[in-house]
Amino acid sequence: MDHLHAPWRMEYISAEAQPGCLFCRVREARPEDDRANLLIWREPEAIALLNRFPYNSGHLMVAPRRHTGDLTAMGDAELLAVLALVQRCLRVLADSVHPDGFNLGVNLGKVAGAGIADHLHFHAVPRWDGDTNFMPVLADVKVVNEHLERTWEKLVAGFSSG
Ligand SMILES: [Zn+2]
Repeated sequence: MDHLHAPWRMEYISAEAQPGCLFCRVREARPEDDRANLLIWREPEAIALLNRFPYNSGHLMVAPRRHTGDLTAMGDAELLAVLALVQRCLRVLADSVHPDGFNLGVNLGKVAGAGIADHLHFHAVPRWDGDTNFMPVLADVKVVNEHLERTWEKLVAGFSSG
């Protein structure tokens, strides 16, 4: 993913300074704040949300509800819940934004690049042929936010209809 340009991610550094865990904060938030939090879907054991500092349009994250950074300590039901939601996200993204492929992965530990190492999360990043030159046109923060809102609406609609 290194070759994707994402200059708005500079904002990430200040956002990361917010107290507490992003995933736990969003999980506990009221449903009426889902748009502001970019939360797309809740399952009993997992949640899906848009990344506010995306590597590409439609960049989603799926996390277990439980605050854990240890994949090896997750139970079968929790693992299945998270992966089933990842699968559903791929389906909704395919139907909603029609990517040519995906980057899918988990960074475990700060050294591996995890921004939030204590609460593990899968990244699903849609990819399009030639997209390395696509996102810089959205480098303006205001445009990125508008784009995020539209993407959120599209994906929430996709989840609700599927
Ligand atoms: Zn957490």
